[in-house]
Amino acid sequence: MDRSKPAKARSEHTLQFERALQLLAQSGHPLPPGEPGTLAWQQAMIDALVDLSSRDALTGLANRRAFELAVAREVDRVARSGEPALLLTLDIDHFKQVNDTHGHAAGDQVIRAVADALVDSVRPMDLVARVGGEEFAIILPNCASTFGQTVAERVRRRVERVPVALVPSGQQVTVTVSVGGAFAPQWVRSTPSLWQERADQQLYLAKAQGRNLVRLEPTAVSVVSNEEKRLLFDSFQPQDHE
Ligand code: GH3
Ligand code: MG
Ligand code: MG
Repeated sequence: MDRSKPAKARSEHTLQFERALQLLAQSGHPLPPGEPGTLAWQQAMIDALVDLSSRDALTGLANRRAFELAVAREVDRVARSGEPALLLTLDIDHFKQVNDTHGHAAGDQVIRAVADALVDSVRPMDLVARVGGEEFAIILPNCASTFGQTVAERVRRRVERVPVALVPSGQQVTVTVSVGGAFAPQWVRSTPSLWQERADQQLYLAKAQGRNLVRLEPTAVSVVSNEEKRLLFDSFQPQDHE
């Protein structure tokens, strides 16, 4: 495209929405309701674009950008309220074989089916995200530590139990996921990246121990890293004690 001259003289006084509308229509996103050009319509347009930029195009799940924001919000919430929250990270086992055997398009169908299975096996308040090619994460706010294993096992079993019927071949493919999980440290201001690292470490163990397994960090609160202690005590002022 020749950017040296504007395609059409653009008014400095009106906003241009054509490309945004095209983008929404092309991605199958609902168009903003109401009278075009009104303030309410413009707000609906901004909301629709924000929604689009937060979603993964293949699965419709939250994308990595939205996930990172949600993890940061949840870390704040846990530190303020002390309510336990669980982070699960999941990776499809031997997914390369699915692509190699059935083709990339079939692989995409499997990724979509796993995404649906994950959404099906958690509460509406939980956030399921696609954070990489065949990698997912789930944030479960207000999840008691005694339920962590049960919830993660339910997710793992749901994927294992329901085969994916490929279109157009009709072939059935069964895949499994490995699941790692960690609770946000309560009352300690952790960082989103430390929380994710903890869950990822458990996922790594689940893979190393044979796959199609759940591994959760054993304790919710007692495992506080040096970095987290520093985050906690650096902001601790002596006058707080007096
Ligand atoms: P492991 O059990 O160790 O996780 O084995 P794996 O084969 O799943 O692991 P690996 O991470 O090596 O392979 C992931 C594969 O996922 C490689 C890549 O080609 C494929 N992949 C990544 N994104 C997509 C996608 O959007 N669609 C499809 N069809 N394949 C994808
Ligand atoms: Mg992977
Ligand atoms: Mg994998």
